[in-house]
Amino acid sequence: MSEKLVITLESMLTCPECGFSKREIMPVDACQFYYECAACKAVLRPRPGDCCVFCSYGSVKCPSMQNQHSVGGAAGR
Ligand SMILES: [Zn+2]
Repeated sequence: MSEKLVITLESMLTCPECGFSKREIMPVDACQFYYECAACKAVLRPRPGDCCVFCSYGSVKCPSMQNQHSVGGAAGR
């Protein structure tokens, strides 16, 4: 795999309850706040400071966070 300036839309979500991992496609235009584990049906929510479940439990940050990173975080309030 070569490093490119592309936003990754695939993330491995790992359930903190049972450790089950599943590959999910992230929505580009919205943050996902709730995610139901396919194995134990636990509903995951983002940890404090995280904007979505992918930032908290995924292997890859969500698309908007990836964007901020490459731009430099100039977006304030
Ligand atoms: Zn689970």
